[in-house]
Amino acid sequence: MKLLHFLPLITAFFVSCNPPEGDYELDYAHAPGANASLSPLGGIKVLQSDVKFDQDLYSVCVRGGNRFISDKNLLLETQLAYAAWLSAAGHTEREWELFSFELADDCPDNQEYLGAVVLLDEGLDAGSSELNSFPESRIICQRSGYSYSCSAQSGTVGLGRWGGAGYSYNPRTGKWIAITSYNQARATFSQNIDWYSLAEHLTGNEQLSQADKDDIIASYEALNDSDKNFDELVKFNKKLANKKLISAKDKEFSRLFGEFQRSNNAKLNKVYKPKLGLYHVLLHEVGHNFGMLHAHETQPPSFISVETDGLKVKIDGRTQYVATMAYGEPYMYLTADDIAGVKSMRKDTEEYLASKL
Ligand SMILES: [Zn+2]
Repeated sequence: MKLLHFLPLITAFFVSCNPPEGDYELDYAHAPGANASLSPLGGIKVLQSDVKFDQDLYSVCVRGGNRFISDKNLLLETQLAYAAWLSAAGHTEREWELFSFELADDCPDNQEYLGAVVLLDEGLDAGSSELNSFPESRIICQRSGYSYSCSAQSGTVGLGRWGGAGYSYNPRTGKWIAITSYNQARATFSQNIDWYSLAEHLTGNEQLSQADKDDIIASYEALNDSDKNFDELVKFNKKLANKKLISAKDKEFSRLFGEFQRSNNAKLNKVYKPKLGLYHVLLHEVGHNFGMLHAHETQPPSFISVETDGLKVKIDGRTQYVATMAYGEPYMYLTADDIAGVKSMRKDTEEYLASKL
């Protein structure tokens, strides 16, 4: 008779996404392979193995009905974010077929779905403790003589984590016999932000020529209205990467700043809702679903690359390494550091799982 043990495999935890304070030499960081066995990368290996598992597909719940972004756009942008990380990890259409994305009225944090993307909305989530994760933002302006300044106090805008699982194993060989998920890989977005879609971002974009804008918007709409396959999603992401698209700064802050500038008021101090594009935050939080950690937080248990081919840019006159996972850098594509990071994450996850499956 085989002895069965049931142990928690990992503790799923949310990573709080706050901007870094101070100066950092940014690099990529990710979870140890053993910790993220039910990230999408580990989930692929588990689904392809003979180990008994209570899921047939890596099912991702996309919670519809929020007041910010249409269901269709949110579903597409979720698929684009997953496709970006999967493709960067070296996966193809073959692995994409193991994923399912479903719009649902609710994405409860249970075993029903392995992943979830949820835009919190006071109307939908009244009474939910998740609303407490996200503070309100405040704008503070003051005028002195002819000079004036405004600053924003903002907190966490999104949270992301990888999933948790339990397993039974054969104590003689150490090999797993059965796996059960108990926590989904979840990406949650603040109800205190006025989110807008990638389509809206592209329409108001000032980086692109009109021809490029028309081309990318047409591709977005075409994807929105069809059954999209992996290659088409990857091709769209490539267009954003080729143009090195950066998301716009908080549009509501800019509007209030202009209003204050034109007024005669000595000061302004009020709660406001930042207006942000969702896609770069979605890419970031889905990165956490894949096991990625903040590039500026390199303390254990994260693994840090020492051989990054990092993308270098000038920020405030200083050369820095930057990545989507370095919070505050609103890339709408995965940078060289992100790509190197998720490849390393895949390698570590697969090496760990090879000894267990
Ligand atoms: Zn984060």
